[in-house]
Amino acid sequence: MKDTFKHQGLRQQLVNVLKNKGITNEKVLQAIGKIPRHLFIDSSFLDHAYQDKAFPIAADQTISQPYTVAFQSELLQIEPGHKVLEIGTGSGYQTAVLCLLGARVFSIERQQELFKKTSRFLPKLGYRAKKLIFGDGYKGLPEEAPFDSIIVTAGAPFVPKPLLGQLKIGGRLVIPVGDDVQIMTMFIRKGPKEFEQHEFGEFRFVPLLEDKN
Ligand code: SAH
Repeated sequence: MKDTFKHQGLRQQLVNVLKNKGITNEKVLQAIGKIPRHLFIDSSFLDHAYQDKAFPIAADQTISQPYTVAFQSELLQIEPGHKVLEIGTGSGYQTAVLCLLGARVFSIERQQELFKKTSRFLPKLGYRAKKLIFGDGYKGLPEEAPFDSIIVTAGAPFVPKPLLGQLKIGGRLVIPVGDDVQIMTMFIRKGPKEFEQHEFGEFRFVPLLEDKN
């Protein structure tokens, strides 16, 4: 698990690419500048780790494109101490970004293989989520609700009601909604039954699937 000057240099280039694509939040950029993304992906893709691209991980899933990770992280407007729920732990890369932003992170993954792998891997790198959960993200995590924000990192065919219900007033849900192509959508909870909705254009994710596997 080596992190060399070469990797650090490539990471800085990636940060510049993300700046040029419009990411401005300094804390998000700093997190991406720090996290050794090459350790989150298969070694055969080592040379590609710092390109702004999604890559295959285990169980037919992907590690999200860095731009997408940065874009979603920016929308969440995380403050240190925020309680954040992530749906789709996957490689744990987005989880690591949330940890570095100072969030108390709860993250749910439905693929047992990934859940196990990432549960072992993240603490080795020093990223300590509050809790990683093997379960179905469609249900959220009622026992820990409400959350300051919820991030969904898989394409949702519809917006799961429990997720809206588990937001604090003022809290944000960032979720890509759609089947083949998704529209990045943000809901801000304005009151018990009031939500403000914002849309941010097209992204592509692996699908949010029901139940665990
Ligand atoms: N945040 C991850 C992205 C992984 S891709 C990363 O940075 O690597 C999306 C992940 O969502 C996959 O691991 C997939 O297994 C998981 N997923 C899909 N449907 C889910 C559900 N209903 N509940 C929890 N996780 C789910």
